[in-house]
Amino acid sequence: MNTPHTTLAWMAEGTALCLRALDGLDETSYGAPSLLPGWSRKQVVAHLAGNAEALGNLVHWARTGEPTPMYSSPEQRTATIESGGTLSGDRLTAWFTDSARTLADAMATLTEEQWSAQVVTVQGRTVPASETPWMRSREVMVHAVDLGAGVRFMDLPTAFLTELRADILTRRGQNAVPVTHGHPADVTAYLAGRPHSGVTTTDGAPAEPLPPWM
Ligand code: ZN
Repeated sequence: MNTPHTTLAWMAEGTALCLRALDGLDETSYGAPSLLPGWSRKQVVAHLAGNAEALGNLVHWARTGEPTPMYSSPEQRTATIESGGTLSGDRLTAWFTDSARTLADAMATLTEEQWSAQVVTVQGRTVPASETPWMRSREVMVHAVDLGAGVRFMDLPTAFLTELRADILTRRGQNAVPVTHGHPADVTAYLAGRPHSGVTTTDGAPAEPLPPWM
């Protein structure tokens, strides 16, 4: 696993990519569908802001030892996305920016010992707090592409894509997906269940799309 030093840098880069995608969207295009089936761009941004706050709870947990789960309930997570989707684009961009900064600032104060404190993710996995910058990197990088506003898997750092493929394969199960060929960025998009091109199985046939992951 990468050190927080690397993943914190990816987190910042993913945040910048999201802002690049959002920059210049007018209110209509901000409210338009994202590449994630059933999600508007506004809902993706509301989810990202809610995710920053949720991961902030894990950072609080690591710092204080007081168990603070990411979300109080699955309903709370959904409500944040639904209600956030009705805000103006300006409000959403401000919320995204502020929540990302608050999270980065909170992480910057963690000591070595606090980074190794155990916390529980929304999926119920117990992980050291040092995994939270990776969890956030995945969100901001992949959803920057999902916004469908100019950022592509091809634009994401090569080392990040390598780590993401390994992570998805672990999560999906090595045997649950076929061996594929293609540009590494496209193979990553394929594994993530995102739009891709030129990914083939060993017999040369186009790979069957996988359901979205994350
Ligand atoms: Zn997400």
